[in-house]
Amino acid sequence: MSTPEQYSDAEWRARLSPEQYRVARLGGTERPFSGEHYPRTEHGDYHCVCCGSLLFHSDTKFDAGCGWPSFWAEAAGNRIKRLRDTSHGMIRVEVRCADCDAHLGHVFPDGPEPTGERYCINSVCLKFTPTP
Ligand SMILES: [Zn+2]
Repeated sequence: MSTPEQYSDAEWRARLSPEQYRVARLGGTERPFSGEHYPRTEHGDYHCVCCGSLLFHSDTKFDAGCGWPSFWAEAAGNRIKRLRDTSHGMIRVEVRCADCDAHLGHVFPDGPEPTGERYCINSVCLKFTPTP
């Protein structure tokens, strides 16, 4: 049995919805204000939809008004990696799941304190688990 890091393209296609596959595996972007987690305010954890790795806590979620779920910090443990993204004529920092390489979104230097960062993440790349 293969683990998420070893899945082939065909396996990802079979395991994910077409929209999840397009955004997480092909580096796409969901339409703003379309995602299920954007308005969510419950307490809980946000996991990678591809491999289940814990990525964010609701404690760091905030409304940036941009139409995508935003967080000012990642969950502990270096589960997110950063890559320089020069597509669309912009220099941005792409964020991916460190475990399975799923595209998550981008991180910008205009977030609230204490980090001053804003992780702008596609809802479709996240799976929410409520916690008490
Ligand atoms: Zn992952």
